[in-house]
Amino acid sequence: MDTFQEAMVTDETLDPSDWTEVQALSHRIVDDAIGYLRDIRDRPVWREMPVEVRAFFNAPMPREPASIADVYSEVARSVMAYPMGNIHPRFWSWYMGSSNFTGALGDFLAAIQGSNLAGGNHAAGLMDSQVVDWCKEMVGFPASASGTLVSGGSMANIIGLTVARNVKAGADVGERGVGAIPKPLRFYASDQVHSCHRKAMEALGLGNRALRRIPTDAGLRMDVDALKAAIAEDRAVGFKPACVIGTAGTVNTGAIDDLQALAALAAGEDLWFHVDGCIGALIAIAPENRSLVAGIEQAHSIALDPHKWLHAPFEAGCALVRDASAHRNTFAVTPEYLESTPRGLASGQWLHDYGLQTSRGFRALKIWMALKEHGVEKFGRLIDQNIAQARHLTAQIEAEPALELMAPTTINIVCFRHRLDGASEERLKAFNTEIMLRLQEEGIAALSDTTVHGRHCLRAAITNHRTRCDDLDLLLREMLRLGKEVEAAARAD
Ligand SMILES: *Cc1c(COP(=O)(O)O)cnc(C)c1O
Repeated sequence: MDTFQEAMVTDETLDPSDWTEVQALSHRIVDDAIGYLRDIRDRPVWREMPVEVRAFFNAPMPREPASIADVYSEVARSVMAYPMGNIHPRFWSWYMGSSNFTGALGDFLAAIQGSNLAGGNHAAGLMDSQVVDWCKEMVGFPASASGTLVSGGSMANIIGLTVARNVKAGADVGERGVGAIPKPLRFYASDQVHSCHRKAMEALGLGNRALRRIPTDAGLRMDVDALKAAIAEDRAVGFKPACVIGTAGTVNTGAIDDLQALAALAAGEDLWFHVDGCIGALIAIAPENRSLVAGIEQAHSIALDPHKWLHAPFEAGCALVRDASAHRNTFAVTPEYLESTPRGLASGQWLHDYGLQTSRGFRALKIWMALKEHGVEKFGRLIDQNIAQARHLTAQIEAEPALELMAPTTINIVCFRHRLDGASEERLKAFNTEIMLRLQEEGIAALSDTTVHGRHCLRAAITNHRTRCDDLDLLLREMLRLGKEVEAAARAD
């Protein structure tokens, strides 16, 4: 009895001692969050952090407590005020979704419930499987396929490529390792393939050289004849062609490989057909443009990215595998302490049998809530809207003599640059980079840059449900203004 009472006195918890105080502060945080999103247009896309803010992040590790109100005001001042900017309507850098409020509530509730999606018999586990089922349906995969929610497209691709390696290895790679593979495997992708595939090949023990980059045509799509030739050449010298990676929407220009041709070729050559659909797989739900990704449903595996065109708050990716048992055989190593029981908490599915993580967050909720609220059809229309906006921007660029389109616009990525009469490629690069940086520093818009067919250019990737056509018109007006400004400064030098 005595020891029990003693223990009571010293028991500590992370729960607040006064819930009423926390409640009031939490309401304020929600109010601030709503204002933050509502007034997003009034703020710059991005701004540089002053030295005091940078210094804030060098503060020593806190040993003593602070009030949650003080902690929150530090976050508001030094973190919330300096975002990356991808939720802003004029953010078109790299390739990112723009999040959504309902998804943020989903993340909050997921953390409040705190469930671990390694598996087990609880509602979050069922919802995780349901969201995977919805993703299968979106891309036209059969109900018998399997899948898993992961951190993003890079992990989703590595899941697909791991299954491909194990299925095509001709040896039990899981047990014996890559050294047991009788003939070196070869994977194929276009020269526009995302860099995560290189990392995957390295991590899989196959090595970067085992991923052959196939040249692309003028539209930056994989040259299927060149692929055929590469496969024949590799077979002749004793390699085993194992997998072709088709890209549905390259990160550089949005090009979509001929998925039907690749599916047919893979079937004829007995290759695994993986589609990197991080950008474009979800075009399958867009009524105006879905034919662009016809053939994706024939893949053996697909990587897609709900944190891109479904605008889920980071992180959320999804890997789908047509052959569910090949998927499970690649990853399942369930130990005894995690074995299922006939009833109770452990009687559910072990979701960790489909990937590399053991503990898994409740990513499904933020996706599920936004899909339920808006319906899949609206997400499809928003994808069509971004593609229409990219076509609008393309038309404006083509009509403006000072600007030059640098790659065909297939979907929502536009590659272009400001011209500069008689300037070398090197000067053009410096000139356009300066325009891009001023656009960012003045908080007007965020673009990124890239190289297409060996030439530098700027790039607008419109994966943004907040963008309006007039935002794109403003971008071009500001680019022309900055173009004059930068040219004048150069002449003055
Ligand atoms: C974004 C992207 C990836 C990587 O996805 P993450 O979610 O950033 O990990 C892979 N491939 C393509 C084509 C992409 O656009």
